Amino acid sequence: MATNMFDLTGKVAIVTGSNTGIGQGIAIGLAEAGADIAAVHRSDNSETEAAIRALGREILSIKADLSKMESVNAVVDAAMQKFGRIDILVNNAGIIRREDAINFTEKDWDDVINVNLKILFFLSQAVARQMIKQGGGKIINIASLLSFQGGIRIPSYTASKSGVRGLTMLLSNEWAKYNIQVNAIAPGYIETNNTAMLRADAKRFKEITDRIPAGRWGKPEDIAGTAIYLASRASDYVNGFTIAVDGGWLGR
Ligand code: NAP
Repeated sequence: MATNMFDLTGKVAIVTGSNTGIGQGIAIGLAEAGADIAAVHRSDNSETEAAIRALGREILSIKADLSKMESVNAVVDAAMQKFGRIDILVNNAGIIRREDAINFTEKDWDDVINVNLKILFFLSQAVARQMIKQGGGKIINIASLLSFQGGIRIPSYTASKSGVRGLTMLLSNEWAKYNIQVNAIAPGYIETNNTAMLRADAKRFKEITDRIPAGRWGKPEDIAGTAIYLASRASDYVNGFTIAVDGGWLGR
């Protein structure tokens, strides 16, 4: 039966940035498909915990600051101690800073690159070492439309997300032979904290909405289905690709 291809029963997924937005939507979606969740959060994670427990799945909340290298081993060790295996890693945590390129500061450059790109790489490395021992796994990076486009006033974000798309291909090139499928999702405009400033600007909100062929912004649960697909055996021959889930934005 085709639906069995998406079954994640018995799988363990690490999801970063699980407490809100897209990460919360993905964590709940993977749990709905049967996975237990190691939920990496910075702010309070109780809403996600309750939703996943209500589905009858196990959740371990791991508090970590993903701007710091020490978080990498702490996250992997905690997940291994609780579950003894890691089948899926979703690198979702990310930040954005908005300023004209001409005035952009070193801090706004470093902060964004650290979370969005550096820790994404080193967490993938640490998890891949475990996945190789297990005989394979799935790594899903959260990219962006800014992996394909330049955008304006978000130079470190665009650099990080273009980097995420490139790294997704590189890691796939190196790890496909270990049966690790590394892919990415490029969400379009999604209603989360990340886009609160854009949505608060009535003119920008309308301009953006008018350009989306689907005629609406996405919600975190709109991303969950593609995450389930990339976490499941349905995508076992999909490698190194960044899938846009954008209401048609990139095709316009
Ligand atoms: P969000 O609601 O702001 O969520 C970001 C998540 O990352 C939060 O859980 C946040 O924790 C966590 N995080 C940030 N810095 C962290 C750190 N140093 N340590 C631990 N956790 C940290 O935004 P979102 O839209 O769901 O973003 C999720 C991902 O999707 C990001 O990679 C973003 O770039 C990407 N994305 C979003 C959109 C969109 O339209 N919303 C579009 C394309 C791509 P706190 O809650 O504690 O801050």
